[in-house]
This record gives sequence, structure tokens and C-alpha cells, in this order.
Amino acid sequence: MKRFLNTSLLPSSRSTPRNVKGINMSKSNTLKSCKKHFIETYNPFNVKSTITRSFSINQLNRFSQQNNFPRTTFITIRTTCALCGHEGQFDQVTSTSSFGNCDLDMRPAPLARHTLVDEVQECESCGFVNQSVGKCENIEEMKNIVKSDKYQEALKDDNSFLLYALIKEEEQNYLACAWSYVKSAWIFDDRNENDKASISRRRAIEFFEKSTTCLTLEQKMLIVDLYRRTSQFDKASNLANDLLKNEKIDSKFLIGILEYQKDLCRYKDVDCHVSPDENKIFFR
Ligand SMILES: [Zn+2]
Repeated sequence: MKRFLNTSLLPSSRSTPRNVKGINMSKSNTLKSCKKHFIETYNPFNVKSTITRSFSINQLNRFSQQNNFPRTTFITIRTTCALCGHEGQFDQVTSTSSFGNCDLDMRPAPLARHTLVDEVQECESCGFVNQSVGKCENIEEMKNIVKSDKYQEALKDDNSFLLYALIKEEEQNYLACAWSYVKSAWIFDDRNENDKASISRRRAIEFFEKSTTCLTLEQKMLIVDLYRRTSQFDKASNLANDLLKNEKIDSKFLIGILEYQKDLCRYKDVDCHVSPDENKIFFR
């Protein structure tokens, strides 16, 4: 999966990349070049490290210096694909941190927000996706999944989490499938591919509902957000009301989030929002 510069550095913005004056946001302007520069500039412990949220190299440097930011650190590992034998190079996150509240759909704040692409590996030769492409319990079955038309078509979207979702669907692990669709939506959000993000969110809802695992309250609250982000405001409000009525929630923070979702639905707001601060939640 190609990395894209996420341009939403400012604390007030979340996940909506914007064109920045003087910066070419073409595909070639990837995080890789940003990262290379950062490694060369700040590498006191000889590890590969980067801050993965940036407008530009200069802005990134200035921001990290001003804020004394700890960095996300990576090591590079080589893994041989269990399906095709191709040896690939992958970044593995060794440490990261998160500052600020997560989004309403549980996407973490930076820096952890931007280590998403390193959660899974994708073989650049055959397209197999796994947490480690070196591991596969049923190789012949997996080869058939990867060769399928559906999988080959999904490869065109350059979004490893879409592929991982298809694999998890075939394995009938619907909860993991749903989560992977949520993460694929985050990748599409960062690219401003809103229609594809919406399709991923709808699929996430479908597989959360299909899952036989008993969903946690947080997962049900995530579904409220998925409904809202896909313009299904009535369903979002109804589910929020249902949770408020039936889940015996004693956390004012969680109650506040559900009320906040209902307000957003009233305004037909489909945007990404950060969870409000616990001490800033007020009740009408
Ligand atoms: Zn492979």
C-alpha cells in the first residue's frame, strides 16, 4: 500500500487532507520521502523514526521542535511471503504514542493514528495480506482467495485493509472483517475518497451485524457513528436512543457522546469528529 502524506497536522483538523500552498500532493510526494528526511535529521539512536503527520518537511520539523514531540519508531524487517515466496521489506512499529482524544469512530489521535498502514503486511508480488505475510495456516485455500476475481479487483484500490477484510470474510471471522473495513475507510478518508470510504463503512456495519460475537458497548457506539457517517441519520439516532435506554450506561462521558451523535444527526452532519473532552461534556 502506498503511503500518502496526511496533511491534517493542525490540532483543529481531523483526517481531511487539504491541499497546502506550495506543496505538490501528488502520489509521488509520499510519506516515504518525508520519513527518509526525518530519519536523516533526527536519528540519535540509529533507529528509523518519523512523525507521520505532516504538511511538509519544514512544517513537520518546526512542529516537532516546538512541541518536543516524541516520535513513532520503526524497525525494518524482511519477511518471506508464505504464498509466493517473495521476500519483502516491511516497517514494524516499535513504539508510538497518542495525544488527544480519539475520533468518534475510535480512530486514535496522532501519533498512533498514522501507524495504521503498518498494522498489516501486503506482499508486493502476489497481494496476500496478513499481520505477517510469512504466516498462513491454509496456504492452498488462501491462494484461491487471493486469485479470486473479487480479490484481484480489490487490489486496484491499493488499500490493504480492504484485502484483509475479504480474507477475514472468507474465514467467517466477521468481527475482524468489520474492523478491517473500518480501517479501510480511514485510509480512504485520508485520500479524500469519500465514496469508497462510505462503501467501506456500510460493509463494516453489515459485518458487525453479521458477527455472532456479542458486541461491546463501544462497538455498538461505533456503529452509531458508522450510520451517521453514511447518512443513515435515523438509524444512528434510533440506535443511540436504544443504547441510552437499554444499556444501563453509567458513564457520563459515554452518555455525552451518544447525545453528541444525536445532535450531529439533527444537523445531518457526516463529518469526522473528535470525541469531546470528558470535562467539556454538558447536558441540556
Ligand atoms: Zn506473495
